[in-house]
Amino acid sequence: MAELHPIALIVEDERQIRHFVRAALEGEGWQVFEADTVKQGLVEAGTRRPDLVIADLGLPDGDGVDMIRALRAWSSVTVIVLSARSDETEKVRALDAGADDFITKPFGVAELLARVRANRRRQHAGKGDGAAVFRFGTVEVDFAARIVRKAGLEIHLTPIEYRLLGVLAANAGRVLTHQYLLREVWGPSHSESTHYLRVYMGQLRQKLEDDPAQPVHILTETAVGYRLVAEP
Ligand code: CA
Repeated sequence: MAELHPIALIVEDERQIRHFVRAALEGEGWQVFEADTVKQGLVEAGTRRPDLVIADLGLPDGDGVDMIRALRAWSSVTVIVLSARSDETEKVRALDAGADDFITKPFGVAELLARVRANRRRQHAGKGDGAAVFRFGTVEVDFAARIVRKAGLEIHLTPIEYRLLGVLAANAGRVLTHQYLLREVWGPSHSESTHYLRVYMGQLRQKLEDDPAQPVHILTETAVGYRLVAEP
């Protein structure tokens, strides 16, 4: 039943955006609830038990990042942040607080729904038995055998490259911040070394993208981090 009518909660103080998002989601079969403050957002999240929360960061009674952190104390619901383009540091704070993704304002229906679908797929995949083979483009990552193939040919990855790919694949569709990736791959002592990431992402693209100069799977999120997109 929950799958037939998934529940979304929009926490946004701009009425026009709320209505826009509501119309888009209802068109895809979502049941939609609204809140316009942090306080109401948390109350609605607690009572409606949504499958998806779409949250603005600048809310009249507080910071959307604080709401996400409070929500994460008891919920693993998918959280997509709505953010203004200039707020790169806010995006990073929101992602580090537990948001799954962000959409930059202004945004279109197609982008919104694509992000929602990508995050839903990832959430469902996470609930499965953990598929041992992950695919994107012509790349196949066999985690059980620790073998990576591109167009059927085995590709050699260094241990760091393999680890980085593993973290990206486990979070496919999700924006991962520089800090998160550095911590997961190199450990806490390297949280400042974003140039490591640039170097290793470049190497992964060389080995796995059809055109490393125009990547379609291993994407840069400017000033924020990276995202692996399985189906561009
Ligand atoms: Ca706002």
